[in-house]
Amino acid sequence: MDLFTSVENLKGIGPKTAETLKKAGIKTVRDFFYNLPRDYESYQAATSIAAMRPGKVVIRGKIENLTSRKARKRNLSITEGVIRDNTGSIKVVWFNQSYRLRQFAPDKEYYFTGTYELKNGRFQLTSPSAALVSDIDPSSALNPIYVAHGAIRSADFKRLVNNSRDKFAEIPDLLPTVRTGVRKEALFRAHFPNSLKSAENARDYLAYEELFELILAAKLNRRENEKLKATPVPFDAAKVKKFVENLPFKLTNAQRLAAWEIFQNMALDTPMNRLLQGDVGSGKTMVAALAAYEAIMEQKQVALLAPTAILASQHYESMGPLLGKFGVKTALLTGATKGKMQLKKQISSGEVDLIIGTHALLTDDTEFKNLTLVIIDEQHRFGVEQRQKLALKSPDGLAPHLLAMTATPIPRSLQLTIFGDLDVSILNELPKGRQPIETFILPEIESKAKLYPKICETVAKKQQVYWICKAIDDNPRTETTSVKMRAEKLKAMLPKFRIEFLHGRMKAAEKDEIMERFSSGKIDILVSTTVVEVGVDVPNATLMVIENAEGYGLAQLHQLRGRVGRGTAKSYCYLMTTGDAQPSRRLRELEKSCDGFHLAEVDLKLRGPGEIYGALQHGALDLRIASLSDTKLIHRAQVDVGKFLQNDENMLKYKELMRIISKYQQITTLN
Ligand code: ADP
Ligand code: MG
Repeated sequence: MDLFTSVENLKGIGPKTAETLKKAGIKTVRDFFYNLPRDYESYQAATSIAAMRPGKVVIRGKIENLTSRKARKRNLSITEGVIRDNTGSIKVVWFNQSYRLRQFAPDKEYYFTGTYELKNGRFQLTSPSAALVSDIDPSSALNPIYVAHGAIRSADFKRLVNNSRDKFAEIPDLLPTVRTGVRKEALFRAHFPNSLKSAENARDYLAYEELFELILAAKLNRRENEKLKATPVPFDAAKVKKFVENLPFKLTNAQRLAAWEIFQNMALDTPMNRLLQGDVGSGKTMVAALAAYEAIMEQKQVALLAPTAILASQHYESMGPLLGKFGVKTALLTGATKGKMQLKKQISSGEVDLIIGTHALLTDDTEFKNLTLVIIDEQHRFGVEQRQKLALKSPDGLAPHLLAMTATPIPRSLQLTIFGDLDVSILNELPKGRQPIETFILPEIESKAKLYPKICETVAKKQQVYWICKAIDDNPRTETTSVKMRAEKLKAMLPKFRIEFLHGRMKAAEKDEIMERFSSGKIDILVSTTVVEVGVDVPNATLMVIENAEGYGLAQLHQLRGRVGRGTAKSYCYLMTTGDAQPSRRLRELEKSCDGFHLAEVDLKLRGPGEIYGALQHGALDLRIASLSDTKLIHRAQVDVGKFLQNDENMLKYKELMRIISKYQQITTLN
């Protein structure tokens, strides 16, 4: 069986179904087998309504009186009804799932699995999953639940997988290091478990496979990188010392160590491939400036790529003058730059030493004389192709040294696997005098009493405020406040304050102008979308309000919050929530901790690695199974990959494996 042929080759999958599956990323027979259930439910544990106890329950009944309504003052739809069996009835509630209205036939019986709990003085079943009783095979102990994709619901997946039941036997082995047949058994048991234990064992094996692939890809990347040549930049202690003495502050020890590691790498003729990880505000830019300085003192050119024009101009403003003292010529190249032709000439002739820019840097007609170091800020915001484009701008036959920076801390376990091909420097120390940002979860209704006095107090101290909103425009359908509306409301309430708004759809020049005025203290309150999320550095801003805080991920909230607390004054962050639901675990963790590395670990546990990685880098690496917190399994895979690599023939022999890992390789390689 060829696992890479189209899903259409499977029984019961016609062109239409195949089309829907393809949209969901299930293109090949292999994708189909690896589309594992997200959970298993046991309907044999179903109780009668009369016998229910609070907690997770499974009941069997018919549904009636379904209605849907919008909650007042909230961006929430509530669908309610009554479930009845022959022992009694119970209220059922779903949030933002109005499709439930159309899901049920009144005369049919369903299994409902959900939480039975006390809400507003009444017992109810909250957000249960539902399955048609006639769809369930009474002899199977466990019912697999698949993620629905478009018109293809869990029950359809179940049927399709069942159609191919006898195909599992033909699945070939993937890895040399394990028992023959273990892969097909595992895949079969993941879809058709005879007990929870067997499903777990199956997934353990599949997780091992995935880790093996990742680690192998990372190791091969490193091998490839070591074959490349770069221009060495010899370390010049005297020059670096002079630069450091000229700084307005003392470097932190972490900054020193990171710079030292970078200098060591750049002195070699193999390209540096280093990731600089530092929590928000840890001073990554300064480390980048040191690396750039070192290369430029050796008559080499350096490019710094930033994800937004705001950030690029900010780097230009801060690094330009700093390096200018030592004769370094810095230029800014963004979409809005005037006289691009002229500037590009200066770049190709080597007149400009340091080019700071956005995507505009990547066009084919930007040529360098001797690009030797490439620095990428917030590297996860760039795709592989974009990074490769920049790498290709080095002199013929040479690769540039690469320094990638990220403020999204990567949990250690991820580092060992996905980023195993990179060298990593960590800034685990904030500059002296920083105080932790005091963070509060604040229900919107309390904002008048608690938040507005705080804003007035902040502005009275001549400090500044960020107010983050989700939406740019008003949208009558949602009740999310837009930046424009919020700015209006604030102006009406606080007429003496200078209030402006900012969002991603404004013209670059306009954005720069507003950022510039905020940065120089001419705006008191900046109402903004998340365009300020990355990198923006205004140390005088000490208060941040994040409206609809539930709508953001943990890493993103931490990033946003990192816009304050960048000076020596005490800073505050209010996570504003709407509705009366309990604040999520995410928000509570954020309230407790300002440590990005700790929060990343928490995030990994809460969301799983796939999504974390998604937040780190373009091109989703869909790790569905592997638990990257499973250090034992990681270790086993590492040892086995080591053995695999000892025999070069393996690369030719295990074709499917090599084909799969090329996907990971594209993602993990930086050069
Ligand atoms: P990030 O790591 O989030 O990119 P930045 O590089 O923007 O952080 O630095 C945050 C702020 O800290 C900047 O205003 C920078 O000038 C300042 N800074 C950097 N290093 C130090 C240091 N060693 N001591 C004091 N302030 C520093
Ligand atoms: Mg930064």
